[in-house]
Amino acid sequence: MLFNEFDLDPRLLKAISKLGFTKPTEIQRKAIPAALSGADLMASAQTGTGKTAAFVLPTLQHLFRRPKNSGLGPRVLVLTPTRELAIQIDKNIRQFNRFSKIVTGLIVGGMAYSPQLKILRNRVDILVATPGRLMDHMERGKVDFSRLEIFILDEADRMLDMGFIDDVKDIAAVMPQNRQTLLFSATLEGSVLNIAKKLLRKPQRISLATNHDRHRSIRQHMHQADSKAHKHKLLAHHLENNQLTKALIFTSTKRGADQLARNLRLKDHKTASLHGDMSQNKRRQTVENLRKGRVEMLVATDVAARGLDIKGISHVINFDLPTVAEDYIHRIGRTGRAGAAGCAISLVGSSDWQKLAQIEKLTGRKINREVIEGLEPTGSEPKVKRRAKARPKTKSGLAQDVKKTKSSKSKRRRGHSSALQKTKQTRVRKAA
Ligand code: ADP
Ligand code: MG
Repeated sequence: MLFNEFDLDPRLLKAISKLGFTKPTEIQRKAIPAALSGADLMASAQTGTGKTAAFVLPTLQHLFRRPKNSGLGPRVLVLTPTRELAIQIDKNIRQFNRFSKIVTGLIVGGMAYSPQLKILRNRVDILVATPGRLMDHMERGKVDFSRLEIFILDEADRMLDMGFIDDVKDIAAVMPQNRQTLLFSATLEGSVLNIAKKLLRKPQRISLATNHDRHRSIRQHMHQADSKAHKHKLLAHHLENNQLTKALIFTSTKRGADQLARNLRLKDHKTASLHGDMSQNKRRQTVENLRKGRVEMLVATDVAARGLDIKGISHVINFDLPTVAEDYIHRIGRTGRAGAAGCAISLVGSSDWQKLAQIEKLTGRKINREVIEGLEPTGSEPKVKRRAKARPKTKSGLAQDVKKTKSSKSKRRRGHSSALQKTKQTRVRKAA
């Protein structure tokens, strides 16, 4: 299928070809017609699959098709969790808008207020914003959503993870009911589904392979470890497995990687370490040694393994769990490639449970708990307290709802708002 098979304006097709896009990606093939139909839509697809164009193209098409009505407020709002994403989306819109004159504006934190106030005072078609700064402007009565036609939530899952749920609800609450809402996310599970139910009306749903599905061919399990010594015993047990032909073992530090590699060599395992203190060349050489079978296992850190093409791994073993949950996905993605079955084993020590909870939340599945006879853990699994994220909300007050559970971002913002309130109060007092 080609882009010109969509019902898109020639100005858009020209911009698309200028960008060098020849064929729409799968999410674009499915989401563009759905969005053009005017229906609400929730869509998930892996990162890097072209979700931005999947909502920008139908949005621009909509703006071309429907003549502008009177008024100044935005006709489209794109809400995204971070400033970097907002800047990127704004840039993408400008690229597709190269041969047309849709007016766009960017409202993000960390930038001066006055140019943003200017954007909001003048006619704007598409506003790209992060929730924090947008709420600031809304609280000061500077945003008019009365003519809003399309509301787009990009990276909805991350938005919720970052604690923006109340802001998203507040922003949606002041929009016209008959708007179109498009929600894009890496997954459509858990809290994303809940917010989608609240904000979308009879949505079409498009779910392409998520991070979760991608790892169907990988057997994932974990062992509870009492101590470092216990971890070593569990590892030794797995390294005796005949099915283990090539293993990638992850540690959290470079020193840890070196130590463990040395330790394994002493036990006659052909092992090398792979970490950031080695030159890129040395790292490539080490991986080559694994490929050729000169070594059987690598003990690596996340940074060192990133970007290296390490294939044919039978086992990925997390001696330490990654601090960033997404690294878990990168790690285990090294095994089970090209249809081959893979095995991912995690050793979970007493300080790793919070990390495990984050990983399970991200992947949307509970990792199998396994016990090896003779190497059972002594205690039972600790209960992990879910980190408080959402900011408790009181509709009335700005200043009083500063609570400890807030994300630092919203804290900063609230700080700003209450500072604003204070200056206003001082001004009133002075005037009186
Ligand atoms: P996502 O939001 O799904 O993570 P992006 O929208 O950021 O993905 O797109 C990822 C990359 O793919 C961008 O560099 C974008 O320019 C490129 N891209 C998007 N659609 C196409 C296409 N149809 N053909 C070629 N490249 C594309
Ligand atoms: Mg994206």
